[in-house]
Amino acid sequence: MIIVMQKGATEPQVEHIVKRIEELGYKAHLSAGEDTTIIGVIGHNAIEVKDSLVHLPGVGQIIPISKPFKLSGREWHPEDSVYKVHGHQVGGGSLIVMAGPCAVESREQLMSTARAVKAAGATYLRGGAFKPRTSPYTFQGMGLHGLKLLEEARAATGLGVVTEVMTPQDVEAVAESADILQVGARNMQNYNLLYEVGQVHKPVLLKRGLSATIQEWLLAAEYILSRGNYQVILCERGIRTFETITRNTLDLNAVPVLRELSHLPIVVDPSHGTGKWSWVQPMACAGVAAGADGLMIEVHPDPDQAYSDGPQSLTFANFEKLMAAVRGVAVAVGRELAV
Ligand code: PEP
Ligand code: MN
Repeated sequence: MIIVMQKGATEPQVEHIVKRIEELGYKAHLSAGEDTTIIGVIGHNAIEVKDSLVHLPGVGQIIPISKPFKLSGREWHPEDSVYKVHGHQVGGGSLIVMAGPCAVESREQLMSTARAVKAAGATYLRGGAFKPRTSPYTFQGMGLHGLKLLEEARAATGLGVVTEVMTPQDVEAVAESADILQVGARNMQNYNLLYEVGQVHKPVLLKRGLSATIQEWLLAAEYILSRGNYQVILCERGIRTFETITRNTLDLNAVPVLRELSHLPIVVDPSHGTGKWSWVQPMACAGVAAGADGLMIEVHPDPDQAYSDGPQSLTFANFEKLMAAVRGVAVAVGRELAV
């Protein structure tokens, strides 16, 4: 249930309502817009306390929220969520590009990739220091040393850093190095991790689970939002279907569906979504045409030698081509790449 305050409602009126909500055993979430404040009443069967709140001074309307996801839904927050992250706007019509290797492998590999993606117009550098690998016998990432290299690459190029955090214990260290914390597909329903990243003041890129429905995904976002971190970015990275030629099925339906259901920015990852470098550019263009707020693209100096996800990684030259194509589509649909 949400309470839409009257235009011009005072701060003490808002505080009073928040206090009443808490006395009734619910949580209150404030969203202060340009001229209206909205208070989300969070808890089981919140609608039952409607009558105790409706007559309080400053209350305009009380609207029940039918959807199970509350804070991530548009009913509660009709405007697009927009964040400023490392100098770029995320959401609200801006188009960002996160690019870089699947995993940080060495200083040389990371630096050369960071410089190449920056030159081609990427806005953020991606790269995993902690890698969630399907097999325990494959490269698991450089860990803390990888984070240091990402910091170096940021200092050298000015690119903000996106990197994955896999466990609640690592959240503090990753949040110190990263500008955006990535929660990977395999951890989308790791609720302890979601709660932990819900308590940091850094944006979280929440990837869609391997077989997650859109509703399950929004409920995962809800875990982060309900802990007070409102800076969540959703990332469609493909889901598992009966198809085996592609690594995953990139569900571009999710873009317009989420745009309607949620106010959160949406990024599309055609690298994991297709699994093969030659299919990445067309699906990146399709993601932009579908209205995504950004792209995540894997790029490697020598994909054949990559420790992980080589087959889906673009060379520097192919990334440059992708950026040119994406720019063209962006212009055609009235968008522009963030600079
Ligand atoms: C990645 O971004 O390299 C990654 C592991 O992605 P996902 O969690 O989507 O598989
Ligand atoms: Mn990868």
